[in-house]
Amino acid sequence: MLTEAAHRCQNCGAPIELSPDTVVSVCSYCGHVESSFPLGASPLMVRPARAQELRDFVERAVRKEGGKGASIRDVRFVAVPVWVAELRARTRYNGYKVEHKTRSTGRRTTVYKVYYPVTGTLDERLAVAVYGRKFESIFGLGAVKWSALTRYEAAGGLDPGALRGWEVLGSELTEEEAWKSAEVGAADAHRSRVESMATKVFDCYTETDRSSIRLVLYPVVEARYESRGKSYRLCVDGAEGGVKVLKAEAPVSLLRRAKWMLVGAGAVLATAALGPVIEPLLYEDVSLEAKLILLALPPGLAALWGYLSARSATAIQRLKRLSKEEDVRVLEG
Ligand SMILES: [Zn+2]
Repeated sequence: MLTEAAHRCQNCGAPIELSPDTVVSVCSYCGHVESSFPLGASPLMVRPARAQELRDFVERAVRKEGGKGASIRDVRFVAVPVWVAELRARTRYNGYKVEHKTRSTGRRTTVYKVYYPVTGTLDERLAVAVYGRKFESIFGLGAVKWSALTRYEAAGGLDPGALRGWEVLGSELTEEEAWKSAEVGAADAHRSRVESMATKVFDCYTETDRSSIRLVLYPVVEARYESRGKSYRLCVDGAEGGVKVLKAEAPVSLLRRAKWMLVGAGAVLATAALGPVIEPLLYEDVSLEAKLILLALPPGLAALWGYLSARSATAIQRLKRLSKEEDVRVLEG
């Protein structure tokens, strides 16, 4: 572990701000790397766009999301540490899938279940992103990980000139900790894919072969702005040639809230009107299960619509996810 705050770069003497748990740090003045363990490969960086371009972009984005009255409170240029691991993951799985089918004989309709085995192996080369900080997150982290996964192949060596003015965050994870976390991430991704294919999973076992891991510094602009006395956040991809809003909080206008209230009321009325349509069906020769579902449908839908519209109509802020948020990318399937 490196010593805490007011640490100085061993190469150039520039001050480096460190959290007490930092194990790999990069000096933004000279690019010197200090690590408490031997690094398998030196850190890389994704080149940031020019500062002026980013400032202009943030200003336009804040005006677009927050309206004319919005004003920028704080803009932070941060190079965030993302470990990108490449590995091969093989998952053997075993389970089954249930499908409901209907059969009609004369006037009788019966529902029956069909069981299909779901068995096989996923064998893929994956890239997995692991955030290098333990105790704090950043707004939009999921999208930043996905950006890192789509751009790390174009990442290059550290260029301190390009990082001037950027706050470089060190990694609190060692290479081994990042590897372990990447392996868990790969297994989780495979498991959730298997679960989406099957009704029940008995076995799902993942083996991984490590191939390479790099610490990548990814440029992110974090902005805060104010609109009508409330504060909102914005996360911008700061990569050269890839500047875009990754995630944003935006105020909900009064007009929009009023619209939601009307939509909600209309939907509740429309669902109530379903009752008379459904009633005759109850005398048809269908199973009891089906009748119960039909009976529960209108009040259930009305409650759901009411809840959703009330939530939307009273929300003062909405969250805009403008990019994919994933930490595993399939390289070869
Ligand atoms: Zn230095």
